[in-house]
Amino acid sequence: TQFTELGLAEPILRAITAEGYTTPTPIQAKVIPAMKAGRDVLGTAQTGTGKTAAFTLPIIDRLAAARGRPEPKTCRALILAPTRELAGQIADCVKSYGRNTRLSHTLVVGGVKPGPQVRALARGVDILIATPGRLEDHQRNGDLKLDAVEVVVLDEADQMLDLGFVPAIRRIFGKLPRNRQTALLSATMPGPIRALANDFLKDPAEIAV
Ligand code: AMP
Repeated sequence: TQFTELGLAEPILRAITAEGYTTPTPIQAKVIPAMKAGRDVLGTAQTGTGKTAAFTLPIIDRLAAARGRPEPKTCRALILAPTRELAGQIADCVKSYGRNTRLSHTLVVGGVKPGPQVRALARGVDILIATPGRLEDHQRNGDLKLDAVEVVVLDEADQMLDLGFVPAIRRIFGKLPRNRQTALLSATMPGPIRALANDFLKDPAEIAV
């Protein structure tokens, strides 16, 4: 499979080329078409497989194709990661892959002052990358509403479980619109993560690499 066969828009293909990628990795070859077809995805994949591009490229493609301004205090796509470090890496990928689009993105993690995050959320964000704790803080404070989320990704779900974030994830998912696209990525599929997938994914494409 070539990137040009995955149906991604030209500005995204140019960013991929600029990144130096020539061929999609196996998870990208499977996840990108499934997400482009609007399906939910349950992906078993380790770090290093190219999973970040597998879910960020179709999100960027989807949002860039339907450029509507996000309303204040909302986001169109939400990517949840277990740690600040991982969230930061995902945000770097979003910035890089989205360089030829005009999509906005914001990183919402703990350990830093909330003020700049509050101001960014107030403008409305296309792609929000967040850790669960700080996301819930903003949501409770009224800085962010989750009712406009079109697509949500839960990355490294097994790490979320190990860090005790499953109750927070359930609360967050409970506030998302029912009519949305959901992707869950995990290196392993322990019972509580299977249960999350059963409760929050609709007829997912199950993809393992
Ligand atoms: P990840 O599994 O998302 O952490 O990605 C692992 C590394 O692979 C990152 O440094 C990416 O920049 C790189 N990468 C992702 N997709 C590709 C690709 N199609 N070709 C070459 N490198 C890639």
